[in-house]
Amino acid sequence: MTQKNESFNLFDGSFPSNICVLTQDGTETNCFLRPSGYNYLNPYGLSLTVRYYATFHFMNAPMYMPEIPKGEYKLSYHGDNPPGCPLPVISHVNPSPRLLKLAKEVDIVTPKQICLIDASAVSEQSRQILQGMNSASWRETPDKISIVIDSNVCHEGIMAHELMHVWLDLIEDYEDHRRYRDTSNGKNAFAVISAQSFVLDCMVQKRLKERGFSMEYFTRDLVDSLYENAVAAESGVLPHGSSVETVIARLLSRPWAVPELFDLGNDDWDKIRYAKRIFKKLMPDTVYLSKQITKLFKRYNYESKSEMPRLIDEIINLHFRYIDEPFELSRDLIMTHDQITYSDKFPNKLPNVPPQIKYEIHKRLIRDKLPTGTKVAIEWINGNLHVKFILQPNSIGDRQAPKSEVVSIWGL
Ligand SMILES: [Zn+2]
Repeated sequence: MTQKNESFNLFDGSFPSNICVLTQDGTETNCFLRPSGYNYLNPYGLSLTVRYYATFHFMNAPMYMPEIPKGEYKLSYHGDNPPGCPLPVISHVNPSPRLLKLAKEVDIVTPKQICLIDASAVSEQSRQILQGMNSASWRETPDKISIVIDSNVCHEGIMAHELMHVWLDLIEDYEDHRRYRDTSNGKNAFAVISAQSFVLDCMVQKRLKERGFSMEYFTRDLVDSLYENAVAAESGVLPHGSSVETVIARLLSRPWAVPELFDLGNDDWDKIRYAKRIFKKLMPDTVYLSKQITKLFKRYNYESKSEMPRLIDEIINLHFRYIDEPFELSRDLIMTHDQITYSDKFPNKLPNVPPQIKYEIHKRLIRDKLPTGTKVAIEWINGNLHVKFILQPNSIGDRQAPKSEVVSIWGL
């Protein structure tokens, strides 16, 4: 291991690694090992502090990229592979008020602690595998919500996106908890999870837009990926394999399926149409798949909780047909369960109320946009817990009327 000097311009967008390591197979790779307590500013203006290093056993996303043949793929870190290796847990020190509001709303509806994990400490090869795989795991560990990002290239939008996945599940019950039955089958697990996030991401972006987050980064991401893939294809570099083609088909359907979630200007449309033209010439089946996906978005409303799973099912079926793998929804998908321990984050509030009810009360306050200052009264009637939300006169918020509401949450 050789130590390099950490001298770089924080604002030029380049973040040279501070460590060079030799991996098990003898290749040299770069990674970022910042000591605990170290504070740095990333190119997007996020001020970040390394708090400590910890080992994680989570990761709900299969760490697999389809163009790398199975068996050859390796996530290496000091010659070891995550999730068995220690990764830095970081703090975002200067969040914007809107990001802070979102994080707080997630924090008060669950006993779990939000943990920001930095993937920049894994080797360069592994970061390439991880790219685009920012993830949130909130059901796998009883006491933690793990948000994995690469701190060198992370902007507010990425952080908000991952938090919004958790928010949507906990507060609006909007998520698909099914997974491919055999997680060791990376290709098939990827087909399922990528179809699910493709649909779920629409609602995530919609809610973020409503909260005033910029759609700029996601627009750039979409347009650049399509454009760069088309340029590469035109020069003879075609995607490896059908799984990658499904990724391109999904991207290509986006501008027609959900244009409202992007800020697409004329230049963007020029690039998108150019990409479509190239793909149509070189990969007509992929363009046909993208059209089928767009049609599904016209048939099913991704915002509807009853139609969203149907939309996901149909896209999963299309994917498996495209990659030519046998698949049956009822046989190959299993339900995952939330691992949770109900510790009390708010011991001083409503002291005689079980913690899970406190979290339910907070969910209700957020979901119904009840104004700050709304009072909560608890009553036990015939073994049932009744929760009264009492709006206060002249309260500031979406709902102004001074009236009380009784909400029976559940009997105990
Ligand atoms: Zn997402």
